[in-house]
Amino acid sequence: MHRILAITNQKGGVGKTTTSVNLAASLQATKRRVLLIDIDPQGNATMGCGVDKRTVQKTTTDVLLGESDLASALVSVDYSDFKLLPANQDLVAAEVELMGKPGCESRLRDALQPVIDQFDVVLIDCPPALNMLTVNALVAAEGVLIPMQCEYYALEGLTALVNTIEQIRSGPNPQLEIHGILRTMFDPRNNLANEVSAQLIEHFKGKVFRTIIPRNVRLAEAPSFGKPALYFDRESRGALAYLALAGEMIRRSEGEEMPPAVEAVG
Ligand code: ADP
Ligand code: MG
Repeated sequence: MHRILAITNQKGGVGKTTTSVNLAASLQATKRRVLLIDIDPQGNATMGCGVDKRTVQKTTTDVLLGESDLASALVSVDYSDFKLLPANQDLVAAEVELMGKPGCESRLRDALQPVIDQFDVVLIDCPPALNMLTVNALVAAEGVLIPMQCEYYALEGLTALVNTIEQIRSGPNPQLEIHGILRTMFDPRNNLANEVSAQLIEHFKGKVFRTIIPRNVRLAEAPSFGKPALYFDRESRGALAYLALAGEMIRRSEGEEMPPAVEAVG
């Protein structure tokens, strides 16, 4: 498995944060040592982990601006053993302040260096923009996990993201790869979703995860409890889907050859 994964899609509302929080909990449940980094000023991943973004002491902002080392900004979440680097709206100003500063693209990568051996997986929940914050995530990452809703404009948005990934590869991070494309909020009764899904598999083949995340109300409700679905309704289809995703990622990393994804015909 790529150890450091940026969960990215410049489109908002596609399931980046839901994936970050629920995958962090699922990988931790398999005894992996997980770090979740919130690099979105909205702080949704922070709140979704039950950490109050208004009262946190140190955040991703302090780390990016060099005002704190990463280890001392980490917080524990109280139902699980994973660690969180929290964020809030201070990141908006931090992004502006970073612009043009030396090494502005690689602040997160540099900050991760001293702690990286303490974790098996690092997940970075990105903002819905291809800005300097997302660039920091892509420079720090080994792989990109792309959640996407199988809708009409989804593939168009993917082209912009793939171009950005190419730019980062030809510049500051030649190792960066697409780790996987995740179909989220999937409704198999929707013909368009099935068509877009088929096109995705045609273009991206083995990069498309076999695991599909269904539309599930428990996943939408969990953030208001400040918990991943796993710690709130562990039998829900949403919680089980993210456990299945963690399992697929682990099997892949253990070298098990995965058959290509199948179209979801409901
Ligand atoms: P992003 O981080 O890409 O903006 P979110 O993860 O915040 O997207 O998801 C957008 C909205 O959709 C949130 O209200 C979230 O609770 C809801 N949501 C995400 N995934 C699912 C799902 N599989 N089923 C139902 N609701 C979902
Ligand atoms: Mg989000």
